[in-house]
Amino acid sequence: MTNEKNTVSTGNAADLSGFAALGISGALLKATVAAGFTEPKPIQVQAIPPQLEGRDIFGIAQTGSGKTAAFALPILSKIIGLGTKRRPKTARALILAPTRELAVQIEDTIKLLAKGAHISTALVLGGVSRFSQVKKIAPGVDVLIATPGRLTDLVREGDLILADTKWLVLDEGDRMLDMGFINDVKRIAKATAPDRQTALFSATMPDEIAELAKGLLKNPVRIEVAPQSTAAAEIVQSVVLARTRQKRQVLSKMLADETMRSVIVFSRTKHGADRVTKDLARDGFEAAVIHGNKSQNARQKALNDFRDGSVRILVATDIAARGIDVPGISHVVNFDLPDEAESYVHRIGRTGRNGRDGIAITLCDPSENAKLRQVERIIRMKLPVVADHLGSPDPQRDPREKTERHFEPANDREHHGPRRDGRRPGNGGGKQRFGGKPHGERGPKPQGERPAAAKPNSSSKPDGFKRFKGNNKRRFGGKRPANRAA
Ligand code: AMP
Repeated sequence: MTNEKNTVSTGNAADLSGFAALGISGALLKATVAAGFTEPKPIQVQAIPPQLEGRDIFGIAQTGSGKTAAFALPILSKIIGLGTKRRPKTARALILAPTRELAVQIEDTIKLLAKGAHISTALVLGGVSRFSQVKKIAPGVDVLIATPGRLTDLVREGDLILADTKWLVLDEGDRMLDMGFINDVKRIAKATAPDRQTALFSATMPDEIAELAKGLLKNPVRIEVAPQSTAAAEIVQSVVLARTRQKRQVLSKMLADETMRSVIVFSRTKHGADRVTKDLARDGFEAAVIHGNKSQNARQKALNDFRDGSVRILVATDIAARGIDVPGISHVVNFDLPDEAESYVHRIGRTGRNGRDGIAITLCDPSENAKLRQVERIIRMKLPVVADHLGSPDPQRDPREKTERHFEPANDREHHGPRRDGRRPGNGGGKQRFGGKPHGERGPKPQGERPAAAKPNSSSKPDGFKRFKGNNKRRFGGKRPANRAA
């Protein structure tokens, strides 16, 4: 891999415009235009021609930049030329995404762009029935979109063969890294065709991603569409100072303003997201909630209800919402600050999309000041404080409401700090190869989550820790009880 930036020519196409000038033609061009994509976005201008020439791509870009079409159109264009003959259980192209929602979104875009072009697609995701996925890929598919965990299981068990996979896309590489999928990704890449073409996209570029790119990409064209960790300019950001106990009331007052048409409320933890949703319901606001403990169906339903406007509030954790592209979100409210400052940039990036204005409001308890400073450092601006409730008394809770103890076990946090040791969540860090023993059916356990094993059983049980007295060895590296699936 070279570090120098490669220049990209859009070809000698003076008489063509839009996607045609980039080399897209026939049914694909027709479907692209019908999808409303008439003018290519900058990332598409930069990425499509070199991929059509067979080059690898290293793209620094966020969801929302138009990267899906940027990697999908060249692949589809090449697959269309190959005809329909495929070997059973194989996939011609593989797109790896860190979360199920992003994978579903990518498949939707690909179906839209390939409409009328006779391209088969399949999704391989954890948390949903394995049987129907195996059935779908049995005759072989053109484009497989997958999350790394379930894909690894299918390959290991011989239900999927990657030897014919000539196009590989790794989307949101930094997120895969944070979620501990990096070794799975490397193994998967190794199992694909050695002469494959690869594209790697990442919103940020930590050293580990640069390393991964070095190992997987051959002389890639490097593309960067937005400066790293810089929030979009059209988002108006502010801070409201409020103690944790005041936040519920502050949020409800805010939401009474109907100009807040479509709002994502971010919570740092799954437990917190549930609590915010419940409190909103008590205050008369219907909200959908999306986090990693929800079933795939519940997550998709929440997202659909929010997307089609049947609910105007979506409460989300970082992991569940990253990569989600819902047009027209007017407001992002950070109920609390994320553990990692970079997540702030991703959170507020859910609004202010496609040139529309967006508003991002962060509720900040004094205990979160250090996190706020961290955020201001990476966005390189001081956030204005537009309201200060610290001088007001804490609101009284309605005594009829069941008091819930505010207790957040460490593994409740979805964005728990980067897991950059390459270990997959819940695999105990043991080495795994495709040929090795299956590590058991993960069942409907949502992917990308930390295992709930050894978790104090209930947030409402303050003495939950007592159960682990004298048993800490088991929690921290001791032998796993035989009856507990990995
Ligand atoms: P992505 O970054 O791939 O998630 O794309 C972000 C949004 O931009 C999606 O809603 C796409 O449908 C939309 N989009 C991508 N490319 C174009 C284009 N050339 N013209 C109009 N909309 C686009």
